[in-house]
Amino acid sequence: MLQITNLHAEIDGKPILKGLSLSINAGEVHAIMGPNGAGKSTLGYVLGGRPGYDVTEGSVSFDGTDLLELEPHERAAAGLFLGFQYPVEIPGISNVQFLRESLNAQRKGRDEAPLSGGEFLKVARAQADALGMDYDMLKRPVNVGFSGGEKKRNEMVQMGIINPKLAILDETDSGLDIDALRIVGDGINRIMRAPDKAVILITHYQRLLEYVEPDFVHVLADGRITRTGGPELAIELEREGYGAIAA
Ligand code: ADP
Ligand code: MG
Ligand code: MG
Repeated sequence: MLQITNLHAEIDGKPILKGLSLSINAGEVHAIMGPNGAGKSTLGYVLGGRPGYDVTEGSVSFDGTDLLELEPHERAAAGLFLGFQYPVEIPGISNVQFLRESLNAQRKGRDEAPLSGGEFLKVARAQADALGMDYDMLKRPVNVGFSGGEKKRNEMVQMGIINPKLAILDETDSGLDIDALRIVGDGINRIMRAPDKAVILITHYQRLLEYVEPDFVHVLADGRITRTGGPELAIELEREGYGAIAA
């Protein structure tokens, strides 16, 4: 599904990714762990096509197409979803408006008809139910005044509505208490654990991986994948720290 080969990327002329290669098949969950500043978020931004992140070498193929040639909205329409550490707040736009516009923009990119307000509300409510989110939160401005846990839950609702092929979730567990962590973990499993989907979970900690068991764990250090293993690698990292293992 995703083939990253020798990816080099820089920000303001500063090299951040330095020859990163990673191969992800449908049906797999990959965890990426690593020290602060290693380039984990940069990898997410580069895959999402964020301006200011310049690819200088290497390639990324997504379902056989050159991902790096696509505009960010085309990447989303192709099935790529990015969840970020700090979800944006959008005062003045209701959550339901925002979610419907996101979904319909992506449907348009795939030449699918937009959902009407009524049709969309059914989809949104089903996802809110699955996440235990109050319908009132669908009417409120996007993320404004939401607690950390509510933002993450909202992100899961968004992911459920969008129903992506590949989700890249960057520290989706940061700042969550145990209950919220379980809800988010269950959401990831329910929405994304399928033979035709895949997940990249970027995380500092092993605890989310107790809920969403990865097939592969990678260490990203100094802009490259320096080690790959199974779930046991996450436990080893938590015990011994990156210093001993990443190099
Ligand atoms: P991680 O997510 O692994 O903690 P990041 O990808 O956020 O790491 O950052 C990797 C490196 O890129 C860090 O050294 C960081 O300071 C640098 N960096 C990130 N964003 C910018 C930016 N906008 N301008 C300059 N340097 C940046
Ligand atoms: Mg960080
Ligand atoms: Mg980061």
